[in-house]
Amino acid sequence: MTDLTIRTLEGSTKTLAPDTIAALRGRLRGAVALPGEDGYDAARSIWNAMIDRRPGLVVRCLGAADIINAVKLARDERLLLAVRSGGHNIAGNAVCDGGLLIDLSLMKSVRVDLASRTARVEPGATLADFDKEAQGFALATPLGINSTTGVAGLTLGGGFGWTTRKFGLTIDNLISADVVTADAKLVRASEKENPDLFWALRGGGGNFGVATSFEFKLHPLGPEVLSGLVVHPLETAGELLPKFCRIAKEAPDELTVWVVMRKAPSLPFLPTAWHGKEVMIFAACYSGDMREGEKAVKPLRALGKPIADVISPHPFSGWQAAFDPLLTPGARNYWKSHDFIDLPDAAIKAIINAVRTLPTPESEVFIAHVGGAMARVAANATAWPNRDSHFIMNAHTRWRDKAQDSACTAWARQLFKATAPFATGSVYVNFMPEDEDDRVANAYGTNYHRLAEIKRRYDPDNLFRMNQNIRPTK
Ligand SMILES: Cc1cc2nc3c(=O)[nH]c(=O)nc-3n(C[C@H](O)[C@H](O)[C@H](O)COP(=O)(O)OP(=O)(O)OC[C@H]3O[C@@H](n4cnc5c(N)ncnc54)[C@H](O)[C@@H]3O)c2cc1C
Repeated sequence: MTDLTIRTLEGSTKTLAPDTIAALRGRLRGAVALPGEDGYDAARSIWNAMIDRRPGLVVRCLGAADIINAVKLARDERLLLAVRSGGHNIAGNAVCDGGLLIDLSLMKSVRVDLASRTARVEPGATLADFDKEAQGFALATPLGINSTTGVAGLTLGGGFGWTTRKFGLTIDNLISADVVTADAKLVRASEKENPDLFWALRGGGGNFGVATSFEFKLHPLGPEVLSGLVVHPLETAGELLPKFCRIAKEAPDELTVWVVMRKAPSLPFLPTAWHGKEVMIFAACYSGDMREGEKAVKPLRALGKPIADVISPHPFSGWQAAFDPLLTPGARNYWKSHDFIDLPDAAIKAIINAVRTLPTPESEVFIAHVGGAMARVAANATAWPNRDSHFIMNAHTRWRDKAQDSACTAWARQLFKATAPFATGSVYVNFMPEDEDDRVANAYGTNYHRLAEIKRRYDPDNLFRMNQNIRPTK
């Protein structure tokens, strides 16, 4: 074997001797994958096909000790370091070019403790892994809406989904996390142990170390929830969306209704004449008693004349995967996102105009409905400060052909610009693409300064920089 050329933190390259790699292989329970070796391409392939990076060296970890070995090597040799769990992040920071990639996707265990109603989850677990295990006991914690997303990245960025209004953000349900810090030590972060680190992990992204395991609170939910879609022609969106906003703002915590505006997929319950035509979809989930749910969704179901209404009891873990077919890995994707307290008519008009000019059949606008329990936690209680938003819009453009890159990104940027005057200015860190360095401070708002101070204490050399990066205070 020859020397391995690898990229450093400073952006230069250095060589690692074969003995160094052999010694690393000898220490691992998992595996080293060099370019061309088994597992290398699987580790570097992520959800967003816009990201095609080739790390110099991949460590496919199977436990905390493997992670410590990988962090030690990166720290001692000052190697550029990326950390990948589910590989779903739009920005693609989970993979680096030329540096060391810590791949956690093989660490997938989920263990439910029925007595304490908690779950211990490894970082490679996806939302489907979590839900399938927890729903085996009719338990849940708030996670996102696409079941192939990684629990780790979602949690470290904050995490919201169908049950957030009832049970809070994912981080509001995090009890502790085990973390390998930049000095290659394994520490526990919780309200009692390293509380400052625990505060920063809850929304601060991957800036503070490698999370090797998470402990979550679980809530009784399911196995069925009242959920489903109400589909309307896009032409009625101007009239219905202001009414929807009122319903959403007055809804009980149990009810969450997201809006999806796109060309209709060929769903079996939609008349074929509507397939491929622009529609507005209300996607609803009631996290509570079915009969109460029926009452709560009545005003939504009474809006306009829907093309289809398929709200009924569904298995919760199935509902958690309902949007999976529209969000499969391997397409090119670009997002622009805003937070809103209200969606005034002018913002609604700008959104509808954009949906009339979708650049590709797979592009869409998602409007997440948040608030409820999430909003009752103080903005400085965790690193996530943006608790007063009611709606989070994601202009999601999605395509297959590289030749469409500029048309698609331009469409998302245009909608972002047109709606900016009505937005709060904050942004969800997990919805930021790779070209939004200038928004990191906005994402953390009033919490940024404290985060930078904690970063200085835990990672003064900014070893963990492949993320929406918080620069350590000098
Ligand atoms: C289709 C789709 C739907 C989504 N829906 C939602 C949603 O409903 N709600 C929501 O809240 N979010 C949602 N997201 C955003 C999602 O939360 C982020 O993409 C998140 O980063 C994914 O986590 P991951 O483990 O798959 O990320 P990865 O891409 O593996 O990692 C992302 C970043 O997180 C850090 N990181 C990952 N693992 C670790 C670790 N173990 N220790 C330290 N740092 C780590 C690294 O900095 C890495 O660059 C969605 C994303 C997609 C693509």
